[in-house]
Amino acid sequence: MDRNIFEEEHEMFRDSVRSFFINEIQPHVDRWAEQEIVDRKAFLKAGEQGLLCMWADEEYGGAGVSDFRFEQIMMEENARYGDVGFFIFLHNRLVGPYIGQLGTEEQKARWLPKCVSGENILAIAMTEAGAGSDISGIRTKAEDKGDHYLLNGSKTFISNGILADLVIVAAKTDADNSHGISLFVVERGMEGFERGKNLKKMGMHSQDTAELFFNNVKVPKENLLGEWNRGFYHLMHFLAEERLLSAVGSLANAEAAFAVTMEYASERRVFGCAVAEFQVNRFKFADMRMEMDVCQAFIDRCVMGHNEGKLSADDAAKAKLFATELEDRVTDQCVQLHGGNGYMDEYPVSRMYTAARVSRIYAGSSEIMREIIARSIGLDPRKTHKTSHKNAA
Ligand SMILES: Cc1cc2nc3c(=O)[nH]c(=O)nc-3n(C[C@H](O)[C@H](O)[C@H](O)COP(=O)(O)OP(=O)(O)OC[C@H]3O[C@@H](n4cnc5c(N)ncnc54)[C@H](O)[C@@H]3O)c2cc1C
Repeated sequence: MDRNIFEEEHEMFRDSVRSFFINEIQPHVDRWAEQEIVDRKAFLKAGEQGLLCMWADEEYGGAGVSDFRFEQIMMEENARYGDVGFFIFLHNRLVGPYIGQLGTEEQKARWLPKCVSGENILAIAMTEAGAGSDISGIRTKAEDKGDHYLLNGSKTFISNGILADLVIVAAKTDADNSHGISLFVVERGMEGFERGKNLKKMGMHSQDTAELFFNNVKVPKENLLGEWNRGFYHLMHFLAEERLLSAVGSLANAEAAFAVTMEYASERRVFGCAVAEFQVNRFKFADMRMEMDVCQAFIDRCVMGHNEGKLSADDAAKAKLFATELEDRVTDQCVQLHGGNGYMDEYPVSRMYTAARVSRIYAGSSEIMREIIARSIGLDPRKTHKTSHKNAA
C-alpha cells in the first residue's frame, strides 16, 4: 500500500541514510555481533552525517528538526541495511528528549553539543533487578546532602550500558511516596559509578546491555534533571514516544524479514518449484503483507499525530502491542520459510527472529500495553475498587 505521509525531503533523506547504513554500518555487523558491542565510532560517524538528535536547536549543533518522520525513516533503513543493535534511536529520541525538554539552558549547553556529535552516548536507567514493569518499586535512592545528591543502588538491563557517557538514572527521593522519584544525570567517570558485565542475551548481540552500580555517587546539584520528586511523571510523559519508537522498529524489522524471505523463497527450489510458489506459502506471504500494511497505516497515523503533539498513551500502546506481536508472527513465519537455513546465524533472518523476541518485553511488555488500553476504555479496576469500596461504606 502506498504511504502518503512523506514529502520529497523525506525521500531524499531516506536515500542518504540508506547509503550511510550500507557503507558505514553494514560492513561491521558480524564483527559487532561477535564483540557484543558496536564501535563508538559508529555514533561519531552518525554525528558527522547530522543523524544524531536532529531535534536539537542549531545553537547546540542540531538541525532544529523535530519531525518524527526522519527518525522513522532512520529506523526503517537501519533495520533493513544497518544493524538493529545499533541503538541510534534510543540515543536520539528515547533519551535525548529528556535533556532537550527537561534540561535547563545550562544543562543543554553542557551536554547537547556532544550528544549531537556522538561524543556523548546516552542511556536511561529505570529497571532494577526487583522492579521493571512497576517503576514505583525501584529501590535506588538519592538523598539531598546540601551541596550534592548522594546516589546509591543498582540498575539492570540498561541498553547502551557499556558505551554510555551520560546515564539518566531514576531514583527514589521520597520514601513515603511510591511516585516520589527524581531523575539524575550520571556521567562517565563519576566516583562510585561502576558498570557490571555486558549481559549475554538471546539475540541482538551487538547491543550492549549492562548492569550499573551506584555506590555513594556524589551527583552535583546541577545534574538533577527536571523537577525534584516529579521524575515518575516525567517518565510517563516520555513513554508514549518510547512506545511509538518500539512500534516503528518492530514493523521495520518485520518488513526486513519479509524482504529477505521473499528473495529466498523465490529462489529456493524444492520438489521442482520455488518455495514461494506453493499455495500455502503464497497465502502466508499474502497474510503477512496484509497485516503489515494495516499496521503501517496505523503507525503512520500515530507518527503524524505525534508530530502534532496529539499521540495518546493508549494509541501508542496499541501501536506497540500490535507491531511487536506482528513482528513476532512475521519473523517466525520467515524462519520457517527458510527451512534449516533460517536457523543458521549466517542468514539474517535468524538474527531478526531472535532480535524480535525482546520487543514484547521491553519498553513496556505486551501485558502492560493491554492494561493501558483496557484502562483507556474504562476497564480500570483501581477505579472500580475505589467505587465499590465507597459504595460499601
Ligand atoms: C534487552 C533489554 C534491554 C532493556 N533496556 C532497558 C533500558 O535501556 N533501560 C531500562 O530502564 N530498562 C531496560 N530494559 C528493561 C525492560 O524495560 C524490562 O525488562 C521490562 O519493563 C519488564 O520488566 P521486568 O523484566 O522486571 O519483568 P516483570 O515486571 O517482572 O514482569 C514479568 C512478567 O509479568 C508480567 N506483568 C507485569 N505486570 C503485569 C500486570 N500488571 N498484569 C499482567 N502481567 C504483568 C510482564 O508482562 C512479564 O510477562 C531492557 C530489557 C531488556 C531485556
